[in-house]
Amino acid sequence: MTDQAFNQDDLGRGPYDLTGKRVWVAGHRGMVGAALVRRLGSESVAEIITAGRDQVDLTRQDQVESWLGKTKPDAIIVAAAKVGGILANDTYPADFLYENLMIEANIIKAAADLGTEKMLFLGSSCIYPKFAEQPIKEESLLTGSLEATNEWYAIAKIAGIKLCQAYRKQYGHDFISGMPTNLYGPYDNFDLKSSHVLPALIRKADAAKTNDDDALEVWGTGTPKREFLYVEDLADACIFLLKNYSGYDHVNIGYGDDVTIRELAETVQRVVGFEGELRFDTSKPDGTPRKLMSSERLRSMGWTPTTDLETGIRQAYDWYLDNAAD
Ligand code: GDP
Repeated sequence: MTDQAFNQDDLGRGPYDLTGKRVWVAGHRGMVGAALVRRLGSESVAEIITAGRDQVDLTRQDQVESWLGKTKPDAIIVAAAKVGGILANDTYPADFLYENLMIEANIIKAAADLGTEKMLFLGSSCIYPKFAEQPIKEESLLTGSLEATNEWYAIAKIAGIKLCQAYRKQYGHDFISGMPTNLYGPYDNFDLKSSHVLPALIRKADAAKTNDDDALEVWGTGTPKREFLYVEDLADACIFLLKNYSGYDHVNIGYGDDVTIRELAETVQRVVGFEGELRFDTSKPDGTPRKLMSSERLRSMGWTPTTDLETGIRQAYDWYLDNAAD
């Protein structure tokens, strides 16, 4: 049920043809969902279905059931989640665990009951053990303890993978899971209290430049390493998986290389044009020391990213200036 399952049809079905399909992107207002909607625009789908929180509260089972019963999509991508950076995760453990469990359980169960043809569930690289062997292979899942700062989110996402696997195993549903690395790009969350490191550094560097500050504040020691994937590459990988993958195992979606937080801050400084120094605030947590995923499985299926880190940061910074800058 493991290696030989990928890139082949373990349910007796061929590649999934999106032509004429009605696809629901759950979570279309988030960075990932918005990129998926843009990317699906270049497929010959019949309809891209979206629903705002005012139409359906995904944490409420009755609302999800009745909305899905009415819209009946052929395929679903689950990009809806309560997400946040290291501080938000650590501060709101109950919200991160409860809301993510509810969202995925409601969607997966209702989709199964309706016989939805295909579903892609998205998680994140924080599902892996804190000290997993690097680069982290899919098989590392559940081989050790999680990083304490984001275990709430991680447990919910692991449950989502298992739910897809369980519905596949028990009922034969073609539900697959993809685990993206840290993402960034247009529609990112630039709120400093809840954002991830990359948008935070873009915003802080831009403010430091505007205010002519001496230093850019960076949390932690700057030594942890992180991998970053541009969200448009992620969206492309998701469509690739939707069409070409029908396996039990989840699939990593990474960039293939990582940088230290210090190197990241230096790249952001360069792109933004802030010439002051970096000041490390070691009262803030470092989190997991390294989180580079092995994306060998996806690469071997024939998909690779096309946006390098500096180009992606440049595009994300342009988007920030046009849409979100203070
Ligand atoms: P993580 O990947 O789950 O640990 O989440 P983050 O993206 O929030 O943090 C990644 C690393 O960047 C951690 O070591 C943070 O301490 C560090 N970091 C440095 N400056 C910042 C910042 O301004 N905001 C955030 N969120 N993280 C920062």
